[in-house]
Amino acid sequence: MSRVTVVEHPLIQHKLTLMRRRETPTQAFRALLREIAQLLTYEITRDLPLELTAIRTPLRPMQAPMLAGKKLCFVSILRAGNGLLEGMLELLPAARVGHVGLYRDPRTLAAVEYYAKLPQDIDQRLAIVVDPMLATGHSAIAAIDRLKARGAGPLRFLCLLAAPEGVAALQAAHPEVPIYTAAIDEGLDEHAYIVPGLGDAGDRMYGTR
Ligand code: URA
Repeated sequence: MSRVTVVEHPLIQHKLTLMRRRETPTQAFRALLREIAQLLTYEITRDLPLELTAIRTPLRPMQAPMLAGKKLCFVSILRAGNGLLEGMLELLPAARVGHVGLYRDPRTLAAVEYYAKLPQDIDQRLAIVVDPMLATGHSAIAAIDRLKARGAGPLRFLCLLAAPEGVAALQAAHPEVPIYTAAIDEGLDEHAYIVPGLGDAGDRMYGTR
């Protein structure tokens, strides 16, 4: 069963509360998401391997640590994933980026793919799949199915908020994929929105609806 890490850092929790408030405007919502994305990225990359490299400081040569091992690929589940992606790329600008477009069939709630563009060498990279809301888990599962079909692995999943139902579904479908989130809320309402949640992440991010 995959590991779930709830990143309880006070800065993340404070900023998440600001995001949840209904009166928080679009511009502030987007900025907060970008900031939290950076803090979550710090945690999800905590165990990346380092290797010593020979460098020269202005004073003398030394062996200094640099990131080693598999290169990174961030995969954004459109469209809300892009809000997290922005902050992640500020910390790791050399990461490659893939996009998977999925919409939720309003009747069945199934994830339907309408777009996918992934780096050719995704099988050589550590892929971090991002979507702010892990609600039913359908989109995350479908995106990871797609990545696995392209030979990707290892994989990690990063979200802002999760519902217990989404966590359980993702763990059942992809038990080896670790999940990172800022909070796990009470559950889903009848429209599969996370409660108490923060509403529709895409709409709040882009000011639509
Ligand atoms: N997607 C959202 O944007 N919000 C939810 O609460 C669930 C899915």
